[in-house]
Amino acid sequence: MPDIFDALPGMDLQTMKNDSHGGAIPFHRASVGEEEVRAVTEVIRSGWLTMGSETARFENDFSDYVGARHSVAVCSGTAALHLALVAAGVRAGDEVIAPTTTFTATAEAIGYTGARPVLADIDPLTMNLDPEDFSRRITAKTRAVIPVHLGGQPCEMDAIREIACRHNLHVIEDAAHALPSIYKARRVGAISEFTCFSFYATKTLTTGEGGMVTTRNGIAAERMRVMRLHGIGRDAWKRHQSGESADYDVKEAGFKYNLSDLLAAIGTAQLAKSDAMCEARRKIAARYSHAFEPDAALEIPLEAPDTRSSWHLYILRLRLEQLAIDRNHFMQQLREKGIGCSVHFKPLHLHSYYHRQFGYKPGDFPRAEEQYHRCISLPIYPDLTHEQADRVIAAVLEIAHACRRKHAKAAHASA
Ligand SMILES: *Cc1c(COP(=O)(O)O)cnc(C)c1O
Repeated sequence: MPDIFDALPGMDLQTMKNDSHGGAIPFHRASVGEEEVRAVTEVIRSGWLTMGSETARFENDFSDYVGARHSVAVCSGTAALHLALVAAGVRAGDEVIAPTTTFTATAEAIGYTGARPVLADIDPLTMNLDPEDFSRRITAKTRAVIPVHLGGQPCEMDAIREIACRHNLHVIEDAAHALPSIYKARRVGAISEFTCFSFYATKTLTTGEGGMVTTRNGIAAERMRVMRLHGIGRDAWKRHQSGESADYDVKEAGFKYNLSDLLAAIGTAQLAKSDAMCEARRKIAARYSHAFEPDAALEIPLEAPDTRSSWHLYILRLRLEQLAIDRNHFMQQLREKGIGCSVHFKPLHLHSYYHRQFGYKPGDFPRAEEQYHRCISLPIYPDLTHEQADRVIAAVLEIAHACRRKHAKAAHASA
């Protein structure tokens, strides 16, 4: 399967039929239904399609849900990261630290500001930013850090925030995978100065395309509201509402990052189901982990103490020394058995752009590379049936068994 399908998870689903009677099991399928159809239809009938009262309602519901002070809706998770960086005052010449194991959008947004993305290595247990490695990469130019909650497993936020605080750095969480994740009794979105969510088609809550920044900084929230709509002081909805004259003032060089009411209405409908959807994913994760844990060739994903994952992803890791095949062959066999799967993520320093532009190269982040070569993301979404989950389990165990390395098998048997 072409790489682009792994880079943009979801693109391959359109071509795969989800058939619970023995057909292919797609890697992902969005949980959308009549509630979303009704919500969008109402917005169309209202005649107001762009950002307006539906977006305001989605923002309010979102703040209540994660426990945030302010929520600012935008058109993508990438736009959310960019706006948060702008509100944090990050500029050309600055440096911003991010883990190398993430989607390119994390570092791309840093680049939008003219700042340099400084990559850091990961903790092999959680595959999240390693606080110590982050700390080592701080220079006089560092302005912010972007921890990424990979797959929904929260980062070590206490350690990261303590280091950031000591060096006077902004913390901008990339929570594209982390709705709803919990860190020490608080929902992700209520912890740091800025948290950025994505509502892309494959994320745990989707509006098709969309994003949100939560913040406890009221001044930053107001600035992001201005910057998301061309830098205009009062947006069209407010002017429409107050029946003011058409006069407006462009206060700054802004962006076109606002969300449409059509999409916000989908978001509000999705939010109402968010806990139930998470519970369904959690059950699948438990089913997988129960089945995989006894197999010496498989390492199950960790849910760290005092945290709750959103279970956006189920990242299984292979113990390659036990197997006669590599990760790609394992995935190929899964796909031959009709099981959709993916990889999260090929570390940024292994991509040609990050090599050409910033000089990163293979070997720079050995822990991230080691995990990359052994990780496979399995299907996990609310509409995956128990029968389908059991077929995924059977396929994984079959391959792990059939492709055992001989000496490893002997060592295991005598152990
Ligand atoms: C999806 C994703 C983003 C970007 O979100 P978009 O809504 O697609 O712009 C950012 N970071 C991570 C880790 C992601 O997975």
